[in-house]
Amino acid sequence: MVDASSVIQGYITRGLMLSGDTYEALAEALEIPADAFAATMEKWNGYVAEKNDPDFGRTSFASPLDTAPFYAVKVTAGIHHTMGGLKIDTETHVLNANGEIIPGLFAAGEVTGGVHGANRLGGNAVADIIVFGRIAGEQAAASIK
Ligand SMILES: Cc1cc2nc3c(=O)[nH]c(=O)nc-3n(C[C@H](O)[C@H](O)[C@H](O)COP(=O)(O)OP(=O)(O)OC[C@H]3O[C@@H](n4cnc5c(N)ncnc54)[C@H](O)[C@@H]3O)c2cc1C
Repeated sequence: MVDASSVIQGYITRGLMLSGDTYEALAEALEIPADAFAATMEKWNGYVAEKNDPDFGRTSFASPLDTAPFYAVKVTAGIHHTMGGLKIDTETHVLNANGEIIPGLFAAGEVTGGVHGANRLGGNAVADIIVFGRIAGEQAAASIK
């Protein structure tokens, strides 16, 4: 059993992680130059031991990365939240470019824009979808009665 947190263990189980028992083996899996990778890792471990990073001036140091097996995972940017979208009123009617209600069209959640201003506070998307989602459902149901 690999000694890793449950989150990392999940990545391993799903085959998202590359691994190697040495720096060179991990570099080979990553298809990057093994010598340079091993040298970088040794250098990092030295910086951790000295609590001094002359390359980037880092001041916080976690554990040295010197215990096999070693893992690597591809990390890319993703969309966390779209800030633009349909303009709605407080009853979730979608408004046209003139600010007029488009009859029979309701929207809530991330498809809408302007609810959070220029930057959403963390956690408020969930409040948004619950509050406005419920209103939109009620409004849509009422509109067909
Ligand atoms: C990684 C991540 C972490 C987040 N963490 C937080 C957090 O901690 N707190 C917080 O408040 N917010 C968080 N958010 C944002 C929040 O999750 C979203 O803003 C919210 O889930 C949006 O809900 P929604 O119902 O508007 O849209 P969605 O959840 O995107 O739902 C839209 C649905 O419509 C479906 N759909 C799309 N097109 C069609 C179609 N043509 N026909 C039928 N169905 C269709 C999609 O499959 C989807 O199920 C996070 C977002 C991400 C990506």
